[in-house]
Order: sequence, then structure tokens, then C-alpha cells
Amino acid sequence: MANQFSAYDQADILAALKQNVTAGTVQTDEETLQHQSYSAQVAGQHAPALAFISAKSVADVQGVMKVARQFHLPVVTQNRFTSTVIGADAVSGALLLSTAQMDKILELNTADAYAVVQPGVINGDLDKEARKHGLFYAPDPASKPMSGIGGNIGTNAGGLSGVRYGSTRDNVLGLTVVLADGRVLKLGGKTTKQAFGYDLTQLFVGSEGTLGVVVEATVKLMPLPLGKSLMGLAFFKDMPTLAKATTALRMSGLYPAMLEAMDENTLKAIDAYKGTDYASKSGAALILRVDSISPEGEQIVKQTLADFGAVNVQLTTDEADQEKIIAVRQAMLPAIFTSRNAVMEDMAVPTSKMAELVAYIQQVGKEEGVEIFTAGHAGDGNLHPTLTWDKDQAEAPQAVTVALRRMFTKALELGGTISGEHAVGMLKNQWNNVELGPDLDYLQHQIKALFDPMNLLNPKRKID
Ligand SMILES: Cc1cc2nc3c(=O)[nH]c(=O)nc-3n(C[C@H](O)[C@H](O)[C@H](O)COP(=O)(O)OP(=O)(O)OC[C@H]3O[C@@H](n4cnc5c(N)ncnc54)[C@H](O)[C@@H]3O)c2cc1C
Repeated sequence: MANQFSAYDQADILAALKQNVTAGTVQTDEETLQHQSYSAQVAGQHAPALAFISAKSVADVQGVMKVARQFHLPVVTQNRFTSTVIGADAVSGALLLSTAQMDKILELNTADAYAVVQPGVINGDLDKEARKHGLFYAPDPASKPMSGIGGNIGTNAGGLSGVRYGSTRDNVLGLTVVLADGRVLKLGGKTTKQAFGYDLTQLFVGSEGTLGVVVEATVKLMPLPLGKSLMGLAFFKDMPTLAKATTALRMSGLYPAMLEAMDENTLKAIDAYKGTDYASKSGAALILRVDSISPEGEQIVKQTLADFGAVNVQLTTDEADQEKIIAVRQAMLPAIFTSRNAVMEDMAVPTSKMAELVAYIQQVGKEEGVEIFTAGHAGDGNLHPTLTWDKDQAEAPQAVTVALRRMFTKALELGGTISGEHAVGMLKNQWNNVELGPDLDYLQHQIKALFDPMNLLNPKRKID
């Protein structure tokens, strides 16, 4: 921020922005800056931006970089602003660069099954468009109706069908990015195989806006699976038993496309929110889906569920009934977040270790006196324990911080990661040396310096 000894003042910066952002808009009013600078759900190291720039062209993005370089200002790239890790909140004096209005599907190629899109395209909108042509866009974070492809790439978003179709990383073929110095790079291409040069496309996936700004992406589309999908809701005596059943289903050869878990606390919250009665049925629920189901496949599902003592099993190929099942999962976040303050976590472990992590999370909740709601993409060993506290207390209590530290440490001990799909943001950037070790941490800073020597892009994010 400018002070009395600055070589420039705010008016100089705004004039330069207006000169260099010609298709999009530059906003500096208090209301916009407050609204766009902070995500509602978490307190952190963020601060108000200097200006909110809504880019409409690649030239606008380059223009923002030019101004950032001239005045040494941080640039925080924001897309649809659904990050759960303080990924797209402003830092003090930042140019908050939104790519949300760059929202066109530029090409939908049915012969080679790919789409070329701008970053602001909403994930669910791309999927709907692809389905009109017998194709689909596989990555499906629970934020599918509201998160955008640019942010999905920034975070390497996962989702419900990751167990079958992978995360965003597995579905990106090529990118166009603007670097901090304004250069435009075309990375990757349109082929499903590429073995030329260092793989910079994948380096950018999950880089959280710290290496450059994605202004165009070529993503894989998949042909819709043949036949019907089988969806199921089944209840187990507890989460560790559910975790074992999940591993058995994953290893059965059926290639399930969804294996979602919810623990007893989560079911109780959903019951209170929706007026249902799931928690009395047992201690954990599994939602599963198998695409292109065969009679033999259905038999394997039934047998596996029975082997692990599942009760109240509902299996259906009817689409309306399937929507009712998935609505149970969708009710989870509002059910928890409306009554409590909360932080949702995101550890992933090898699936054979999931039962142990689940049991440990429950133990930590009891020992630290923290109410924890655990759900997650069980097929990927990816758990989202949500730690909660009273609504009238703004800051997370010490017990929550201690519980988080214990859970993170355990996930790493089990050979896992403390970020399966939500990325690092400003929430977990202090954990680099713990998860990566000092050598890899240092190398990551060297990579960052190569792309962004002035540390303009998303400072404090990912590898602070
Ligand atoms: C209800 C809910 C459910 C969710 N469920 C899931 C889930 O199941 N799986 C999952 O993985 N996540 C989930 N999330 C988290 C979130 O939706 C994802 O992280 C999503 O990928 C963010 O996309 P976005 O467009 O909102 O990006 P933003 O939140 O705006 O940005 C996310 C990150 O990407 C960077 N970025 C944004 N645009 C660009 C760009 N053009 N170029 C370079 N970097 C960029 C930002 O700087 C930031 O670091 C959920 C969130 C909510 C609110």
C-alpha cells in the first residue's frame, strides 16, 4: 500500500489499471472490495484488495500483470470463489483478478472428445453441454454447480467420481497461461498422449494461481457409459466397517464411480436439517454408484454389502430415486454449517489405512472435546472431517487447533497427505516442511521463483 514516502499513489495505480484493462472492469468501491476479498467461512491472514478487476480477455490479464510489475503489487487470481482453504481471498493491497467472466465454451469437439474452455466456465455447465452430445465432463466436485474450470485446475479439484474417473489433473490436456511477466504460454495440446518436453501442463494443475493465470483450458470429455448406473444407499455399524467394505468394493473389479461415506454425527445433522431418520439406522452411511451395471455386477455389490453387515440397503437404477439418494449427500454441508461454525478438512490416506484414520479422528474428537462430522470420498481414502464450534465464537477454539494438528500428523504417519483435493491456500501453507520435507520445500520455492521471481502471484498461498 502506498504510504507518505511512496513513489506513487493509489490514483496512479488505478489510472494504469484503467488504461491496461480495456474489455473488463476495474472496481474499487468499498462494497465490492469487502465482498470479493473475504470468503465467509474462515478467518485467516487475508485483507482487503486495492482493486477488483474482472477480466474479459487475455489482454486484460496481461494488463493486470503489467501494472502489478510496475507497482510491485500482489495479484490474487479468483475464479468462482468457492475455495475452502482461503485460496482466493485478497491479501493487503492486492489486485484481485477475477477470471469468472471469461466464461465461454470455445469448442466442443465430439470427434476427438475434448472441449476448449475459458476459466470461468462452471463445471456443471460444461458437463451439461457435453451430455447433449453423448459425452460428459468427469471431474465432479460437490461444488460442481458453482465452481469453475479455472479454479478446479488451480486446486486440482477432485470429487465424487474421482475413484473411477480421476481428479481434474487426469482430465486436462492443455492450458494457455499468462505468466507474471505477461508472456502467454501454450502448454500441452489436444492429444490424450504427450511425451514431449517437461510436463508443464501438470505443473500448473494444482498450482493455485502461484505460477501463472490460466486463461484457456483443453479438457478431456468422456463418452457416456452404456446401459444403466446402479446407485445405492447402505448403512453400516460404524465408519471403520464402512471403510473396509469400501476397500472391498473398490478392489472387486467393478470400478465403482462413487463411494461416498458419512459418519453418525453427519447423519444426525442431516436428520435434524431434513427431518429424516438415518442416524437411528446405524453408525455410518455409504452412497455408491456403479456405471454400466450388469446383473453379475449387481450381485457382487449385494454380496459385498452383506459381507460387511450392511443394513437398510437401497439399490436403484431409477434416475429419480438416484437423485433422492444423492440429495442426502448434498444436504450434508448446509446441515452442518447452518448451526455451527466449522472448518472442513481434507486428508487422504492409502485406502487400506482409512479405517485407522477414521477411528483416530473419532478418538481425537472425544479427547479434545470437539464435535467432528466426518464424511468423504471413501473410494479415494479422502476424508473431510469437519470440526465445529459454537456459532457465537468467531475464532476457532484452541481445542480445534490441537485436534487439527493431531489429525494432520496421523494422516502423514499413515503415508497420506493433508490435502487430497482442496489444495493448500493460506490455511495449510505452514505445513510444507512437515509434509514435503525441507529439500522439496526449497525446490518448490525455486520453481516458484523461476516463474514468478518478484513473488507477485498469490503470495502466501501454497508454499508460503
Ligand atoms: C459446497 C462446496 C463443496 C465443495 N466440494 C468440493 C469437492 O468435492 N472437491 C473439491 O476438490 N473441492 C470442493 N470444494 C472446494 C472448491 O469448490 C474447489 O476448490 C474449486 O476447485 C474452486 O473453484 P473456483 O472456481 O471457485 O475457484 P476459486 O475458489 O476462485 O479459486 C481456487 C484457487 O484456484 C486459483 N485460481 C482460480 N482461477 C484461476 C485461474 N484462472 N488461473 C490460475 N489459478 C486460478 C485461485 O487463486 C485459488 O488458489 C467445495 C467447495 C464448496 C463451497
